[in-house]
Amino acid sequence: MPETNADTIYDVAVIGGGPAGYTAAIRGAEYGLKVALIDASPRLGGTCLHVGCIPTKALLFNAEIWDHLKHAEEYGIAGIGTPSLDWSAVLKRKDSIITRHVKGLEFLMKKNKIAVIPGYAKLTGAAKDGVHTVDVTASGASSQVKAKNVILASGSEAKLLPGLKADDRILTNIEILSMTQPPKSLVIIGAGAVGAEFGSIFRSFGTEVTILEFLPRVVPVEDEEISKELTRVFKKRGIDINTGAKVEKVEKTESGVKVTFTDANGKPQVKEAEKVLVAVGRAPLTVNVGVEKTRIELDRGFVKVNEAQETAEPGIFAIGDIVAGLPQLAHVGAMCGMVAVAKIAGRNFRPVRRDRIPGCTYTEPQIGSAGLTEAQAKEKGDEVKVGKFPFAGNSKATIVGSHDGFVKIVSDAKYGEILGVHIIGPQATELIAEAVAVMELEGTVEEMMFTIHAHPTLSEAMLDAYGAVEGMAINA
Ligand SMILES: Cc1cc2nc3c(=O)[nH]c(=O)nc-3n(C[C@H](O)[C@H](O)[C@H](O)COP(=O)(O)OP(=O)(O)OC[C@H]3O[C@@H](n4cnc5c(N)ncnc54)[C@H](O)[C@@H]3O)c2cc1C
Repeated sequence: MPETNADTIYDVAVIGGGPAGYTAAIRGAEYGLKVALIDASPRLGGTCLHVGCIPTKALLFNAEIWDHLKHAEEYGIAGIGTPSLDWSAVLKRKDSIITRHVKGLEFLMKKNKIAVIPGYAKLTGAAKDGVHTVDVTASGASSQVKAKNVILASGSEAKLLPGLKADDRILTNIEILSMTQPPKSLVIIGAGAVGAEFGSIFRSFGTEVTILEFLPRVVPVEDEEISKELTRVFKKRGIDINTGAKVEKVEKTESGVKVTFTDANGKPQVKEAEKVLVAVGRAPLTVNVGVEKTRIELDRGFVKVNEAQETAEPGIFAIGDIVAGLPQLAHVGAMCGMVAVAKIAGRNFRPVRRDRIPGCTYTEPQIGSAGLTEAQAKEKGDEVKVGKFPFAGNSKATIVGSHDGFVKIVSDAKYGEILGVHIIGPQATELIAEAVAVMELEGTVEEMMFTIHAHPTLSEAMLDAYGAVEGMAINA
């Protein structure tokens, strides 16, 4: 633990120890700043580590293995009999992954001499003589932390529909992660990344899954063709998808829940299930953190910042899920944190660009996308050229038994600059990294058509998709 007392003036006090806050704290310390990290939870890691990215991906990995086991004989693995699912072991493994990474964070805090201060923090207003004061309450006792700069990284929480309260049948991302058994049936309200991932997980484990989405398509932020392909594969997997569905009422029955909705044709429908998951988005945690005592400007609860993550209150920065105009993703929050501390330390930085953010949905099949969709590029007035290559033509996809999906490249017709890449299929969440790097370097289709991709790999589907832009894919 670094030397610290009530008179310590930190260079930076970070409020919130999720991926945005802890990344800012570590990078700040690496720059040589004196950093305090305040978190209301006794365990660092935030939503991402405890009830978000990490536990869901742990369950998705279990689901993937389970799906492979169902086809064991196809892979020449005989004699394993009928496999059974030990759900408590599944949960135990998930929890042990979380605990390991909480310990990892504790180690990193010590290594970087970051003062971790437990407690609930509130801003108190503008800086006095260049020093901000943050009120911290822990176990009923109050104290104050003083810092030249403050970074607010308080994160978000699941939104519920009006009148609903989460419990053991009406679930958010928190309750669903500690169910004692996978439910026999599950209605999911919302088909964004969170709803789609839980649908994919529990369908693999045999749950009867119904998805209700208000908008006309699932994963609505993705390219339209991606939504179509996910719908096709989800339906093939036996998931009941209802788009254009307006949920009217969620009621508890004797044994489960009853969801009343109006379907896309305006007809009233009722769906009963053991549980319902509400996955309709996340609200920023900017209430009750003292924002009103500052000049910080909010947009529907989200904090407005400039390209250095500075709020309208000098010396106060905002990062992560609370920031206006950016997607609520762990890697976005982390990068915002790195930008903020670079600015504080007087170092060079590159602002976070919305069109350079990988968006990943870890469903089966996976989705990885970055940059403009075809429709967005056309709306911008760009003359657009598109190339598409199906995984059915890729030899590694055959080897791993995963032929659904495709790679789609959106490029600028005049110069060949790559404007967007949209992948649905095996390892899409890994493959997208290449696309982000290429776009960051303003790479062109021609440059990528002559970039050697190893054989046999899934990344060859990228090479073929660049070729497809010029009508010259090799394997299709
Ligand atoms: C089910 C699910 C799956 C997800 N999967 C992914 C994924 O695969 N990839 C991805 O990139 N993103 C994913 N996300 C989103 C990701 O979890 C968030 O974008 C990320 O956690 C935001 O980080 P953050 O640091 O801004 O906030 P959080 O992670 O929410 O952390 C905020 C922290 O601040 C603390 N805090 C809040 N208020 C105060 C206060 N006043 N004083 C002190 N401490 C306070 C909290 O205790 C918490 O530790 C997922 C989210 C969910 C719900």
